[in-house]
Amino acid sequence: TIDLLVCKLKHTWMAGVNSLVHQLQSMQKQSTFLHKSALWVKNQIQSSSLDVKSLQVLISAVSDLLSKLIEADGQSGYLVGAYIEHVMPNKTEWGKLHKSLSTEWMHKPLLEGRLSMNCEPLGSCVKLCGTTKLPGHLCTSALLSKMVLLVLENGIVCGSDDAERKKIDSIQLLYSLQWIEELENPPYLLLEYLRMLEEMHITYEKFSTLSNTTSLQQTVFDRSEEHGRLWSLTMSKVIRVENTVSCEMKQHFKTTEGFLPLTEGRLHTLQCLSPFLTEEEKKELVFHCVAKLMTCTQADLSSTDGAFGCLSILNSCLNGRSIDCDHLLPEILKIIMSWKNNNEDSFLFSCNLEETSAQLLGFNIEMIRYLPLLLKYSTDPLADNEWDFIMCSMLAWLETTSENRSLYHIPLVQIFACVSCDLASALSAYFETAAPETTEKLPVNLISEWKEFFSEGIHNLLLPLLVKVTGKYREMKNASEGSFQNSVLMSLGEALTYISKDQLLNHKLPAKFVAGQKTNLPDKLQTLLNTLSPLLLFRARPVQISVYHMLYKLMPELPKFDDEDLKCYGDEEEESALSPPAALMSVLATEELLLENILECIPVGEFAVIQPLSDEFCLVLGYLLTWKLILAFFKAASSQLRVLYSQYLRRSKTLNKLLYHLFRLMPENPVFSGPTSEVPNKDTKTFFTEQLHLDVKGTGVLSSQIPHLACSVYHITLKDLPAMVRLWWNSCEKRVFNVVDKFTSKYVSSVLSSQEITSVQTSTQLFNGMTVKARSAAREVIATYSVDDIFIELIIQLPSNYPLGSITVESGKRVGVAVQQWRNWMLQLSTYLTHQNGSIMEGLSLWKNNVDKRFEGVEDCMICFSVIHGSNYSLPKKACRTCKKKFHSACLYKWFTSSNKSTCPLCRETFF
Ligand SMILES: [Zn+2]
Ligand SMILES: [Zn+2]
Repeated sequence: TIDLLVCKLKHTWMAGVNSLVHQLQSMQKQSTFLHKSALWVKNQIQSSSLDVKSLQVLISAVSDLLSKLIEADGQSGYLVGAYIEHVMPNKTEWGKLHKSLSTEWMHKPLLEGRLSMNCEPLGSCVKLCGTTKLPGHLCTSALLSKMVLLVLENGIVCGSDDAERKKIDSIQLLYSLQWIEELENPPYLLLEYLRMLEEMHITYEKFSTLSNTTSLQQTVFDRSEEHGRLWSLTMSKVIRVENTVSCEMKQHFKTTEGFLPLTEGRLHTLQCLSPFLTEEEKKELVFHCVAKLMTCTQADLSSTDGAFGCLSILNSCLNGRSIDCDHLLPEILKIIMSWKNNNEDSFLFSCNLEETSAQLLGFNIEMIRYLPLLLKYSTDPLADNEWDFIMCSMLAWLETTSENRSLYHIPLVQIFACVSCDLASALSAYFETAAPETTEKLPVNLISEWKEFFSEGIHNLLLPLLVKVTGKYREMKNASEGSFQNSVLMSLGEALTYISKDQLLNHKLPAKFVAGQKTNLPDKLQTLLNTLSPLLLFRARPVQISVYHMLYKLMPELPKFDDEDLKCYGDEEEESALSPPAALMSVLATEELLLENILECIPVGEFAVIQPLSDEFCLVLGYLLTWKLILAFFKAASSQLRVLYSQYLRRSKTLNKLLYHLFRLMPENPVFSGPTSEVPNKDTKTFFTEQLHLDVKGTGVLSSQIPHLACSVYHITLKDLPAMVRLWWNSCEKRVFNVVDKFTSKYVSSVLSSQEITSVQTSTQLFNGMTVKARSAAREVIATYSVDDIFIELIIQLPSNYPLGSITVESGKRVGVAVQQWRNWMLQLSTYLTHQNGSIMEGLSLWKNNVDKRFEGVEDCMICFSVIHGSNYSLPKKACRTCKKKFHSACLYKWFTSSNKSTCPLCRETFF
């Protein structure tokens, strides 16, 4: 009905315009009506009060009006020219309109180092999320561009200078578009705006097809040089679209005089031009900058026309690739060191930033940014004192970062925090991956100093910092991903992934215990788990991933603390109270509860799309990461402990819930489309064949992260808990049973089978008397056992839906074993393979143990005819007082309950 109304109004309006235009032709050209309507339109678009729909209506109404005017005007274009003139903002108005764009756009380019600043960005800090009205700049630039396009399309020449000026003002549209592009998470309103521009054909491409854009490029360059900032970014966009840098632009940096004295505008222009320069041009620029750095006076260190500006340009030129000026890099370091000797006050070492100027912050940021580039590209070995300077400065800057966490809302402080953490990461990565040739050239003791002092120093600062910062954000409750603050979490999280297991174990965090928590872990380790585990649910991906990597390093350390308990439980039939780490299980319980709400409505087997970076995304991510940790813990445990942990998982039904959820989170077709490291071959790559890389900085495609992670968790679950998955599968209703069977056979079984086969083939495990071989094509594992004059061959056949279907054990050659005994052994092997939650090699090893024990003279349990119990791996220990035969406790318990008697199964005497 609204559309109908709009239609009617439009009809009436056009009728009015029509008659007016006819009158105009006969009367004077100056019309108060046109003037008034233009002013009204101008007010509307500048007022920042329109939403996308009303802007669209306005633009189409004005377009209709202009079309009529063009009809009336003929080629002269007088009326059209006058109308546009009235609507166009003047210089002051443009100035105001620029301020209607919030400064949020600055975060990304500042963080990425595309722009450097040494003053606090001023301007509107209007929070974009939740707004429903478009900023005036966007409305004005869209309407203006539409009008200019109309004029161009109709080939009207209205006073050439004038037309040129109007055309040039339409680059404001590019400025608007750049603003949107730089926002980290543009709200829906802006996406709608972009869609509207496409629909109405208001695009730069249209301009290029209708007219020569050389003058536009020149104007954009001039504005960049004058104002810098978003204009410089707009310029770099235009260059990218046009694919050329015009000669006039290049002229400017060819000579030192061209870009000196450096202003913010020139600095930003050079920074944004740098990716488009040839190697020669970059080299020249670098030479100029180094020369200027050498003569920099102390007073000029932090000014734009001094060291700050030159370092910024250097960093931009060096970033991305090394130019052939590697010999200059150590020179720059020497210059920086000389500044420190003469003017340590300019270095923000272990200090309070509250009183610090933006200039000093900017200067320090550029120095910090330079050091990783030096590490990356310098080919000359650094001297002892140079390493010393780098390491000590890094720690001193990190201390400043850690002490000023209450100031992270200030953009430059935040960038300072990010780059200092990034420097720590760069150093960690350097020492972690340094090739032997490199380490040989390093000063003696440097590596040990790094490990014992500097690396430890980094993590002693950063681990507590993560805990404090996340604690503070949780109070604020709006640490949404993409907010500027998250950039610190990203750099901090990345630096923490380098923490070593020993550094974690020796943490200095305040004690944290949970009342009633069942645990065998030492206090310090329990504190660490209690502190980190809840952060798996923190609503910011970088924290979740970083915490996951840290906890992952701890998992293999944990099961051994439960060994004591094993002695009491292993033999009893009573269910043990052992569980995977309580801290993780309590996080899991929270996640399960929340996840139920989201996924419950989705039928098992249907794919739930999780919007990247939404609340749901963080929840599902946390849930899957928690499971990856639990599975890693499980894998590190001994067979006997695994039995107890799996009892817990069965009792609590958490594993069943996981499997149902996985069949809502794994895509129907798990094809991997990202970049692969290997040479492409004809096999399709899937989420099961490709490794998932969980980077804190998240360079991968976020939308495939949850599906890939879900597949990875399913993969590990099948691999390490095959018996439990089988149990679940057999309990599923028919439809789900089929879905699971089909998906698993199609995508997972072959991957798992070949992994099992390969692990048999490459296993270095030696069995005394037993050899194991595997044939991949036939999906067979062959074990031959020979002791004295006995020889048996057993063939293990993996089913096509491995590990869901049961593994069959067939016989090969057999010498010197009685039929009954041999059948018994085959049965036992298949029991071990079916009931155990481990690999085939582990199953074989259990079986071998069983047979060995028998040869050693240990007697079978007379109930199950095995020495080692088929599911809890215990030995027969309960002896009958009368006949002296021994039984497994579990077997006896079963016997007593099923027969409802308490007599010995053999001699029928009462069992004591
Ligand atoms: Zn038994
Ligand atoms: Zn007996």
